[in-house]
Amino acid sequence: MFAVISLDFLSTEVDGFEVYFTKSFLITNELKVFCVVTKGGLGDCLSMGRQLKCGKYLRKSMAKTVFIDRDGVINRRLIDDWVKVWDEFELLDGVPEALKSLKDAGFRLVLITNQRGIAVGKFTRETLDDTHAKMNDLISSKGGAAFDAIYVCPHDRHENCGCRKPQPGMILQAAQDYPDIVLADCVMFGDSESDRGAAENAGCKGFYKIDEKHSLLDQVKSYLL
Ligand SMILES: [Mg+2]
Ligand SMILES: [Zn+2]
Repeated sequence: MFAVISLDFLSTEVDGFEVYFTKSFLITNELKVFCVVTKGGLGDCLSMGRQLKCGKYLRKSMAKTVFIDRDGVINRRLIDDWVKVWDEFELLDGVPEALKSLKDAGFRLVLITNQRGIAVGKFTRETLDDTHAKMNDLISSKGGAAFDAIYVCPHDRHENCGCRKPQPGMILQAAQDYPDIVLADCVMFGDSESDRGAAENAGCKGFYKIDEKHSLLDQVKSYLL
């Protein structure tokens, strides 16, 4: 069986399908023909109509990834305080729609958040996990898409860990956990310079700044344009 696959797909594994590239022929700079063996059978995709169908099929199975900060992006940032319990978590306008747009466009949603409130004893990891479960439920209940993965740095500044943004540790960990992630293709959405720094230090290709004038939804729209 055969599939015609654009070069976009070359560097990435195809999740969820038993696909083995056994032979390839360059047709144009954009297109290669692969001999593809699949478990379920994609069928003979060599005819023009089926090329497109097959491309779509494969594209859908391969999540691209975006990294998103939490405080000030997903929920209202508290002045000189942490969101310690769920009652203090205020979802910002447009967030469910923004996450749904990204999900519909094929992106894996990865939350990357510094929470040194844990290190200073303001809340526990268990409370935080509970808050994140409720956050995902709330986003889903408002028609949004929940986060696929959540990475937390629980350390304090002086601990010099590799994960507290602007260090890239959480992003690099995600790239290890999801081998299809190509960091050079990824962007980050965040409200602080440490988010920008983490994205840069991890080798991401871009950063979208969230502020009073630019919500997550605004920035997602401009990213997806
Ligand atoms: Mg923030
Ligand atoms: Zn850390």
